[in-house]
This record gives sequence, C-alpha cells and structure tokens, in this order.
Amino acid sequence: MSEIRVIRGDITTFDGDAIVNAANTTLMGGGGVDGAIHRAAGPALYAACEKFGGCPTGEARLTSGFNLPAKYIIHTPGPIWNGGNYDEDMLLANSYRNSLELAEEYHCRTVAFPSISTGVYGFPIDRAAKIAITTIREFLQMANYIETVTMVCFDPTTEQAYKNAL
Ligand code: ADP
Repeated sequence: MSEIRVIRGDITTFDGDAIVNAANTTLMGGGGVDGAIHRAAGPALYAACEKFGGCPTGEARLTSGFNLPAKYIIHTPGPIWNGGNYDEDMLLANSYRNSLELAEEYHCRTVAFPSISTGVYGFPIDRAAKIAITTIREFLQMANYIETVTMVCFDPTTEQAYKNAL
C-alpha cells in the first residue's frame, strides 16, 4: 500500500530515495528550490546536469543526489503559468508523472516533491495542488516500488493547499 503525505519543510534535508527538483529547461540551476538543491548537493551536480543539454517542460532527468541525504535528484521543469490556455495543466501533470516514472525505474521507495511551478513560475496554488495530488494518486495505483510520496511544502499556505487537495 502506498501513501501520499504533506509536510512542511526544506526538501534538501529529505532523507529518502529521491527528491524532485522544480528545475528550469536549462537544468543549470536557478532560484528558489532549484538554487537550494544545487547549493546543498554541491558543484558536482552542475557537471552532471550539463551533460543533459537541457530538458523540455514536463519531462524529467535523473542524477545522483551528491552531497544530499537523498540518493537521487529528479529534475523536471514545470510550466510557467501563462493564464491557463497554454497546456499548463497538462504540462504540470506531465512533470509529476514523468518524475514518478523515473523514480519507479530506479526502484525508489520514498520520493519527495516540492510544489512545482507555484513559486516564480506563478501557477495558482490550489489548481496546482489538485493536479499534483490527482496525478500522484493515479500513478500510485500502478506503482510497484514507490511506497511513500511526500509533498514538502516550504510555507503554511502551500502546505494548506496540498492538505486540502489530499
Ligand atoms: P517554480 O519556478 O517551479 O515556481 P520555485 O522554486 O520558485 O519553482 O518555487 C516552487 C516552490 O518551492 C515554492 O512553493 C517555494 O516556496 C518552494 N521552495 C523554495 N525552496 C524550497 C526548499 N528548500 N524546499 C522545499 N520547497 C522550497
């Protein structure tokens, strides 16, 4: 039986199999959670990400966790909110689904997500939370390895949105 949990915290401290990074399409680091993950993982992460030559929105790429407690980092560029008529919902669901597929491929049992696209990318939080929880729940019905998916929320408003969606 698998479960979804919602907690408040800093995803860089997550001690599990994989954390997901809300990256940008260059995969070369940025602000927000991306910057925090790169700082905590160390410079070797840049070198590993450089080899991908970027990543399209909604897809995902896996690296080692380097200096993080997590074994792997799964990098996915979520969509930039542009009013809702530019496939934002579908692209956000793709980010969650493709990240979970990689986690399964690497036999991860515990996976943590940040709130993808709801920071600088401006995706409305309640709408993003519903898409995230629906997509994760659907995926877990067919997962063989993943036991727990933890939504790691950085602030109380984000935490409440995911708790409501759950
Ligand atoms: P995006 O560009 O996809 O919107 P951001 O990094 O700007 O990504 O924000 C995504 C979410 O990650 C926001 O809710 C932000 O507050 C949160 N966040 C920032 N730092 C951390 C962290 N260390 N751990 C977990 N979440 C974080």
